[in-house]
Amino acid sequence: MTRTIRVAVPGPFTEPLDYLVPSRLPLPRRGVRVRVPLGRRELVGMVTAAPSGSNLAADRLRPITAVLDDEPLLDEETSSLIEWAAHYYHHPVGEAYLTALPARLRQGQAAAPAIATVWTITAEGRETAPESLARQAPRQAVLLEALQAEEHLSPARLAGFDGDPRGALQRLVERGLASLTPVPDYGLIIGRGEESNLALNDEQIAAARAIQPGEGHEVVLVDGVTGSGKTEIYLDAIARSLAQGLQTLVIVPEIGLTPQLVRRFQRRLPGRIAVLHSGLGDGERLNAWLAARTGEADVVIGTRSAAFVPLRRPGLIVIDEEHDASLKQQEGFRYSARDLAVLRAHRLDIPVVLGSATPSLESLENVRRGRYTRYRLCQRAGDARPPVIQLLDMRGQPTRDGLSQPLIDQIRRHLEGGGQALLFLNRRGFSPTLICHECGWLAECDRCDARYTYHRGRGRLHCHHCDRERSLPHHCPSCGSVDLRPLGLGTERIETALQAAFPETPPVRIDRDSTRRRGSFERQMEAARRGDTRLLLGTQMLAKGHHLPAVTLVAIIDADQGLFGADFRAPERLAQLVVQVAGRAGRAERSGEVAIQTHHPEHPLLQMLIHGGYPAFAEAALAEREAAGLPPARAMALLRAEAPSREAPQAFLKAALAGAPRDPRVERLGPYPAPMERRAGRYRAQVMLQSDLRAPLQHLLTQWLPRLGRLPEARRVRWSIDVDPAETL
Ligand code: ADP
Ligand code: ZN
Ligand code: ZN
Repeated sequence: MTRTIRVAVPGPFTEPLDYLVPSRLPLPRRGVRVRVPLGRRELVGMVTAAPSGSNLAADRLRPITAVLDDEPLLDEETSSLIEWAAHYYHHPVGEAYLTALPARLRQGQAAAPAIATVWTITAEGRETAPESLARQAPRQAVLLEALQAEEHLSPARLAGFDGDPRGALQRLVERGLASLTPVPDYGLIIGRGEESNLALNDEQIAAARAIQPGEGHEVVLVDGVTGSGKTEIYLDAIARSLAQGLQTLVIVPEIGLTPQLVRRFQRRLPGRIAVLHSGLGDGERLNAWLAARTGEADVVIGTRSAAFVPLRRPGLIVIDEEHDASLKQQEGFRYSARDLAVLRAHRLDIPVVLGSATPSLESLENVRRGRYTRYRLCQRAGDARPPVIQLLDMRGQPTRDGLSQPLIDQIRRHLEGGGQALLFLNRRGFSPTLICHECGWLAECDRCDARYTYHRGRGRLHCHHCDRERSLPHHCPSCGSVDLRPLGLGTERIETALQAAFPETPPVRIDRDSTRRRGSFERQMEAARRGDTRLLLGTQMLAKGHHLPAVTLVAIIDADQGLFGADFRAPERLAQLVVQVAGRAGRAERSGEVAIQTHHPEHPLLQMLIHGGYPAFAEAALAEREAAGLPPARAMALLRAEAPSREAPQAFLKAALAGAPRDPRVERLGPYPAPMERRAGRYRAQVMLQSDLRAPLQHLLTQWLPRLGRLPEARRVRWSIDVDPAETL
């Protein structure tokens, strides 16, 4: 009898491929990795079904060459989640599986954790009184006592003893009182739970009550400004999940996963914590992943891709900063970690908590439709008062490199009063443009519809869209003038202005340029947190989740760049930014001030934010989206194409549309050039699809997309589909 299996193989295949299992190999189950031939290569694939008949004749099927796992690596729940995501985001299923696995498992290595050697007490060691050694071998006596109490001593634990205790341990081994044993080492952080959780206030209690690990599905949106005590609610719920022996998955944006947060979890939670993020080595990543899968880890804190991590005994999912755009992958497999985590919690029938100071309009719409329950935290924990927000009208004001006189005065007042000021500008470099003062020539990237950013520190021009760099021109290539001037504001320029205005208080700049070295971001934030740094300026890196208790003034240097963005989400992003940044001010015992520099103080969005806060803004924005027929009122997908020539993407998209199934419920827009048509030497165009309901849109995509690869026009472009796009640029 021929044995066939279906295998999800990396490559452009929507569905798994059929293979034969030769009789010398065991029949692998779903969730097991196998090695398969594909063309002339050999790849690692994931078994999705076995056994099954095949539509292809057996003599056309190729045999797998190896079975890599004894036990399924992925359980049914995780496998079906990955397959669901591959279908929903219309991404090849094999690639989706790859995204979900740590690199070493993708490469076919064994699903085994690192091994550490530990010293273990023997039966004889247990019977021996440490005092009997105390006279001639005091160190051995101490170690024996520790072994009797703790059973094992790991290499990490040895640091807790004076000097290097290895020699003395070796003596104990020779005496037969201890032995060396290899044990799996998942590299977990051992939560000490030495600090008990705080007594929650009434608002926190209401939210915490709604989160009942082990008692069914519930989506709880915790909506509270920074410092209102959201993390305390998570900790309370996680502790209850732990007490029931259940695991918690915590998903945070990359920038939110700080050592500070991990230490806080460690101090509070008496459980083992695995951390999963992109900065880990392959070995560490594999260990953490396996710890989640085997249940060795009680709490898994990870970034986006942790949404797919298998869990042995899941009890609770937490998504912090749920509005954050980085939770949606923007290339390749374009999944939303937030949306998948909510779906996953639903399928697992467990609670999921979404936390934010500025909930996404998607989540607020789900509250409106009764799918999520929202809990607001209005009082700031520890009696911190909300900041006072004021607009600084820049019209006609003299400015010094972007700083108006009122702002300079305000900063001075705060510094003199012992406060800390935080300035925010979402643009690094010295200036976003270099212009010739004689003829108006602009330094433009020749591969993008964009200008070079001038980086004065490095003395270079840099395109932030394609990463191209070039040296600074000595003179204007158009008229020969040497009078080239920076135009516009970047963080380097603000830094210069601050140095001039406050020579006594050196500013610290925090952006991607100043924090390139590993750990430097953390060091700078730590100095800021201690209050050593009085004057800080930076990009959105500064806006997120860090506790800066001494900040009394937050200034937004330029609100105008966010008011007039090309993306339909630009106002939402600006509002979120303003509120997040404002959340840095007035923590702890001091009340804070927020100053926003703008040339458009009457802009309705700014007015709404100042007078009604984010909730009023969000309500108005939702109504606007509804009227304009945009998400979350309607479902959206974006088909993008790009190529070195301008016509190729247009031709492809036209051909694609010509062959698209007709459905009056799905509206089609385009093809039209992307708002930035040329990027990195490629012309970009897109087609937008929208529908009141997800189902018809999904149905159309499922029928339509598999045909696109066969169009002759497809050979000349790169194309991709983005379901629920986070941006439409
Ligand atoms: P968020 O996650 O919303 O930014 P946190 O949970 O980090 O807020 O809380 C901000 C600060 O307030 C922390 O120092 C925290 O320990 C403190 N805090 C939160 N809730 C309480 C409470 N119920 N009682 C006392 N302090 C609290
Ligand atoms: Zn010129
Ligand atoms: Zn460029």
